[in-house]
Amino acid sequence: MNLSQQRGHEWLATQGFNLQAVMRADQWPQRLRQSMEDCQVNIESSRRFVMLGAGGRLLWEQLGGDLTDSDHPLDTFSVNAAGRVVTEYWGGGEVEILYPGPIPVPLQQLGMFAGWSHVSPLGFGINTEFGTWFAYRALFALDNPLQETVSLASQGTPCDRCVEKPCRSACPAGAVRWHKSFDLGRCVSHRLKSASSCADRCHARLACPVGQDWRYGEDQLVYHGQRSLASLQVRREE
Ligand code: SF4
Ligand code: SF4
Repeated sequence: MNLSQQRGHEWLATQGFNLQAVMRADQWPQRLRQSMEDCQVNIESSRRFVMLGAGGRLLWEQLGGDLTDSDHPLDTFSVNAAGRVVTEYWGGGEVEILYPGPIPVPLQQLGMFAGWSHVSPLGFGINTEFGTWFAYRALFALDNPLQETVSLASQGTPCDRCVEKPCRSACPAGAVRWHKSFDLGRCVSHRLKSASSCADRCHARLACPVGQDWRYGEDQLVYHGQRSLASLQVRREE
C-alpha cells in the first residue's frame, strides 16, 4: 500500500472509522456480485469499493453531541469524510456514494465478505471484536487503483463459542432463538407496545458479553433506539 493510501486510512481512523475495507468486485462471491448488479451498481474490476464502519463510541464522540445540523448527522459526517479522504489523500476523482442513500445495497453480505460481521441469533451481525456495537457508515465506489485490504480468512461467529447465550433469556418477547431464525414480527410487536421495555434499547443486545468494552454510552444508545422506534412507527402507519 502506498503512503498516500495509508495516510488516508489513518485519517479516517482519527475520524472514528475504525472499520475500513477496500474491495474489488471480482473478489466477491457470485451471490454478492449479483446482489450489487441487482442494485444497478457498476461492478467493473477497475473500480474499488470502500466501506467504512464505526465500532463503539469513537465516531459518536467525534460528533461531539452535535446532532442538530441535519436530519441525519451521522450520514452527513460519513459522506463528508468519504469526499475528504478521496480529495485530500487519494488523488481526487469522482466518488459514487452507494450508502447512505436510497439504493438497498447488501451491507450485511459485504460485511460478511469483509470479515466484519458474522451470523448471530439477534437478527443482525456480530463482530468478533466489537460484538454488536458497530455500524456500517458509508460505502462508496471510485475509479482508483487502491490496494484491497480485505482478508479472506474467516474467524467464524463468536456465538458458536458462547455457551450460555444470554441474549435469548434477556429478550422479553422470545424473539431471539438458537437454531431458528430471529422472529422479527415478535420483536417489532413488543417494541411497538405502549411503554415497551424495548422502546429505546434491545435487552438481548445489552446482555451479549462480546465487545462489552465498546458498548454505546447511554446517549448514543437512546439516540439510535429512538430513531429505530420512530421508523417502525412510521411503517406501521403506512
Ligand atoms: S449472547 Fe452469545 S449467542 Fe447471543 S449474540 Fe452474544 S455471543 Fe451470540
Ligand atoms: S428489541 Fe426487545 S424484543 Fe426485540 S430482540 Fe431486543 S430484547 Fe427482544
